[in-house]
Amino acid sequence: MSIAENLAFLAKEIPQQVKLVAVSKTMPAEFIREAYDAGQRIFGENRVQELTEKYPILPTDIQWHLIGHLQTNKIKYIAPFVSMIHSVDSFKLLQEINKEAEKNKRLIDCLMEFHIASEESKYGFTLSMAEEMLKNPEYCRLENVRICGVMGMATFTDNMELVRSEFRQLKNIFNILRDSYFSAKEYFNVISMGMSNDYHIAIEEGCTMIRLGTCIFGERHYSKQ
Ligand SMILES: *Cc1c(COP(=O)(O)O)cnc(C)c1O
Repeated sequence: MSIAENLAFLAKEIPQQVKLVAVSKTMPAEFIREAYDAGQRIFGENRVQELTEKYPILPTDIQWHLIGHLQTNKIKYIAPFVSMIHSVDSFKLLQEINKEAEKNKRLIDCLMEFHIASEESKYGFTLSMAEEMLKNPEYCRLENVRICGVMGMATFTDNMELVRSEFRQLKNIFNILRDSYFSAKEYFNVISMGMSNDYHIAIEEGCTMIRLGTCIFGERHYSKQ
């Protein structure tokens, strides 16, 4: 199946209100162009260097999402153009994004990444960490970032009931935060969850954004770099 055929298939699988991020990490620019020509506009990358290499050679109306871990010293390279950062996992990182956004006179949309998987991971907020940040007066002073919702990755497993419970947990976190901190904020409407192997469950559990790589572009072949 071609990239265009995969996208056409997915368009039937994914409800209209759910936004599709085409995860193009490790894929060459020609593949992204093929998806673009089929109408796809949102692309996700997980490495800053790869993103900054692809950005200038592809159409300017692409919305680039950073979905992988972000180091503070690299924010400056993407701040001029990035459309959404899914992987905000600390208050410090959000403050640094705000600084770089301000230098570029931009408002950068961000998601808070939550650690929902049962696997060990260094990244992601807990609910209490997130609430601590949202209550901090310093947070309220950030004018160049906007938190639009939450992002999470389920455990990599065949146990789909575990995956479902993790997605349900993320949706719960979203509801709690929306009700307590973003009640009148219409922009707080993103639940980014679901990848190629579990997106059906994510849709059933109420995601509003899914991040698909393999089922659009095929398997990734990592080269030694
Ligand atoms: C790679 C990646 C995806 C897409 O994974 P697939 O299984 O290829 O769909 C989604 N989200 C994040 C954060 C990723 O790093």
